Amino acid sequence: MGEDDILTPPGNEHLWPEGVAAHYKDRKNWEKYAGQGRPGIFCKVCGVRFFNSGADKHLRQAPEHMDRCEEIPGKGVHGHMEAREIKAIFPREWDEYFKFCVIRNPFEKVISLYWFTVAWNNGELKPKEHVPAFDATWVWGKSGVARSWELYTIDGVPVLNFFVRQERLAGELGAVCRKLGIPFDGWLPRAHGNYRRDRRPPKEVLTPEQVQIIKDNFREEIEFHGYKLDPNDRFS
Ligand SMILES: [Zn+2]
Repeated sequence: MGEDDILTPPGNEHLWPEGVAAHYKDRKNWEKYAGQGRPGIFCKVCGVRFFNSGADKHLRQAPEHMDRCEEIPGKGVHGHMEAREIKAIFPREWDEYFKFCVIRNPFEKVISLYWFTVAWNNGELKPKEHVPAFDATWVWGKSGVARSWELYTIDGVPVLNFFVRQERLAGELGAVCRKLGIPFDGWLPRAHGNYRRDRRPPKEVLTPEQVQIIKDNFREEIEFHGYKLDPNDRFS
């Protein structure tokens, strides 16, 4: 990695392998972009700041709040940025660079997020033994976390050059690194790997209702990437 690379700070730093979080902390050049990017809104009715697709979504859902929303500075550079935010801050790089991201089968992603939330919520969710007990309200409420479509599209059109599938992470990341001339020895950390209580594939775990909820909430991602509810789609 070069000195000019921007590494945004990780959350949950205590979970990271020793040395990794320290490395990020030492590299604070993301701070100089504070306040840049797409402006957000502060809704005086809700008392909440909204950014990017969150702001768009809020004004769609509550257009009557529009008059009581004021514009606030953008979030600068941060983790999980949307394509539109990145393009707004780095227009030249956006045009010139090879752009890629890692995607994941939504059926796997929701189950994974469910167990992660169970582990972190200290009892707010009370799963039955080994069975993810989520409903549509939970999935849609979490859509800001789980949906990736808004991150790599602009106006509904995918805008990256390559998608690395999490199911084939090491091989495809290796291919990207070879293309970019970055040395990669194939080693990957197993962060966030210990929350799931049930390793069965989604097909065996999810109810038909849960499958439908995921299909509805991740429709664009499932269609564009051809994801299926199939164990063979996990680790090919
Ligand atoms: Zn509002």
